[in-house]
Amino acid sequence: EMKERGGDGYKIYEHGTIKKSIERMVLENELSKSIELGCFHLDYQPIFNLATSNLTGVEALVRWDHPDLGRIPPDQFIEIAEETRLIICLGKWVLRQACRQARKWEEKGYYYTMAVNVSAVQLADPEFLMIVKNVLEDEGNNPSLLELELTESVLGNQAEILGVVEEIRKLGVKIALDDFGTGYSSFSYINELPIDTLKIDRSFIHNLDAKVQNGAIVEAILSIANTIELNVVAEGIERQEQLTILKKLGCQEGQGYFYSKPIEAEECEKYMKINRQSE
Ligand code: C2E
Ligand code: MG
Ligand code: MG
Ligand code: MG
Repeated sequence: EMKERGGDGYKIYEHGTIKKSIERMVLENELSKSIELGCFHLDYQPIFNLATSNLTGVEALVRWDHPDLGRIPPDQFIEIAEETRLIICLGKWVLRQACRQARKWEEKGYYYTMAVNVSAVQLADPEFLMIVKNVLEDEGNNPSLLELELTESVLGNQAEILGVVEEIRKLGVKIALDDFGTGYSSFSYINELPIDTLKIDRSFIHNLDAKVQNGAIVEAILSIANTIELNVVAEGIERQEQLTILKKLGCQEGQGYFYSKPIEAEECEKYMKINRQSE
């Protein structure tokens, strides 16, 4: 409307900037309120062994259920939660909630890996190791069924962070490198990282098709991972064709809409029941 009043491009720009920063302030404020009120829940995306189609684990994914704005996806608030450090509180809740659910499943005889995303800000928090220890003790989980998902940028950082990761692994907890291939570190020192699992970013899975060259990167990742005995999970499998290629390339595990979207705990449990019957 400013344009109509005089075509002042600068004002349009300014107007947009102000609008953005107001939106941002509102979101920050709402995020902090929602954390206090507990307006979040976890969905779980099943992860499968590609060769056998058996369920191997689930990934916990946080959902913000805003009373007025509705469901807000993580891509729209995790970054803000990190910048405001609200992620420390939210992440602690996510970890406890995921472990509580995993423990409920353990009690029913469902032993599956529970993967939980952890941000760099959480890992840099001096209390993080203690938080993990306490949650595992309080909830009574088998630590080896918990897997923390970190990204390359987190692990590529300081020796201090790597030390914390080593301590966490000493508890028996597994570490996964999430979104692998999107960072810079990549191949060169992957064998030096304290990790158990590589999750191939879905951008590499996206264009897997009959063209051999599109599979070259995935093939290279798998060949290195097999050599250093890392477990590999392919993210974002959407089509049968991708699954077929991944199986042929020897990828062990995968998740994606082809199998299931992230779903509520109860629905996820159905997969566990089916899985038990087929074993
Ligand atoms: P991520 O950890 O890489 O999680 C996988 C994302 O890919 C999820 O998005 C999932 O819904 C989506 N996805 C799974 N299969 C497919 C598929 O076949 N096709 C497509 N197009 N997408 C698929 P979501 O739930 O929106 O989460 C986005 C990101 O937000 C996550 O990426 C993770 O980085 C972050 N996030 C989610 N929950 C948490 C959390 O509790 N803590 C932290 N720190 N980050 C979280
Ligand atoms: Mg993840
Ligand atoms: Mg990922
Ligand atoms: Mg991610």
